[in-house]
Amino acid sequence: MRSLEDRLERVLRPDVRQMRPYVVQPSAGFVKLDAMENPFRLPPALQQALGERLGRVAINRYPGERIDELKAALARHAGMPEGYRLVLGNGSDELITLLGVACNRPGATVLAPTPGFVMYEVSCELLGLRYVGVPLVPQTFELDEAAMLAAIEAHQPALIYIAYPNNPTGNLFDDALIERVIEAAPGLVVIDEAYQPFASRHYLDRLTRHPHVLLMRTLSKFGLAGIRLGYLMGRPEIVDQVEKVRPPYNVSVLNCEAALFALEHEDEFRRQAEVLRRERSRLIEALAALPGVRPFPSEANMVLARVPDADRAFEGMKARGVLIKNVSRSHPLLAGCVRLTVGTPEENDRMIAALAASLT
Ligand code: PMP
Repeated sequence: MRSLEDRLERVLRPDVRQMRPYVVQPSAGFVKLDAMENPFRLPPALQQALGERLGRVAINRYPGERIDELKAALARHAGMPEGYRLVLGNGSDELITLLGVACNRPGATVLAPTPGFVMYEVSCELLGLRYVGVPLVPQTFELDEAAMLAAIEAHQPALIYIAYPNNPTGNLFDDALIERVIEAAPGLVVIDEAYQPFASRHYLDRLTRHPHVLLMRTLSKFGLAGIRLGYLMGRPEIVDQVEKVRPPYNVSVLNCEAALFALEHEDEFRRQAEVLRRERSRLIEALAALPGVRPFPSEANMVLARVPDADRAFEGMKARGVLIKNVSRSHPLLAGCVRLTVGTPEENDRMIAALAASLT
């Protein structure tokens, strides 16, 4: 009999064996400001009403027609253009994988500006797609037009991801530059609007200009990170193809019902987003007043800041009970940077105090 180690050696992909798993930082007892979650719970009355709704769901059945109702509700919520369709994912993370699966022809390339959302690259590693990251302009974190156009010409990418606003830099790229990237793209372009609830502009009004552009959104940052629901809007010619590679029951009956409930109460979530936008301004002002700290402008529920010593800031804040993200080693353009999620007013006060105390 072969040993288990022997079997794994034979069957597992060598690169999978080398891979490190995605680690979620333990956060119990911390002020958790590391993952762009909405810090607000539902008001108790709504939480109770949600519990009652979920209590009536037939969990013995696979998801069925109720998913179509959810799709219709999301289309209304987003204001999806006439003639477009949407496909649902277990978070937009899954949609990124599904797009990769659908476009995974030999030699296919995915291109995205960097620093950017890590899953674009991770999904490529998993699927064996080529990934090309094109650095943003240092300091402004704007798209580097010449570099983007040259990379598109050289690599002829099947997919281009533009996060709008971008993670972790928080900015919205210039619209005219995006337009030129879209026009130069030989394949599909995905505008990833995960942070749309906090942004001053969005791409939806322009979506119908280009049939090869898809718009991806999620309920995660809106206040429902726990239910895992992302959606991708596009022309039926594209969406119907992505549907073919989607696992049939990827959105559970509980997720579906919770999302429908949330959309019925979207005003509550919009109010929360409004508070977070105000808090973002306050946070940026407070950060700018700290010695040696430079916050970058943000259109998302996070603020990237350059600090005198990112490791020291991260550890010092952690020791004071505040968990943030140290992105200083994730990309050369982010040297010395930390990413701070906007929390409740009280959490932000604690975060600012913890950072101030951790600078020296
Ligand atoms: N896109 C961007 C730009 C993100 O930052 C994130 C999450 N951090 C996602 C997509 C994924 O969101 P989810 O899977 O929770 O829908």
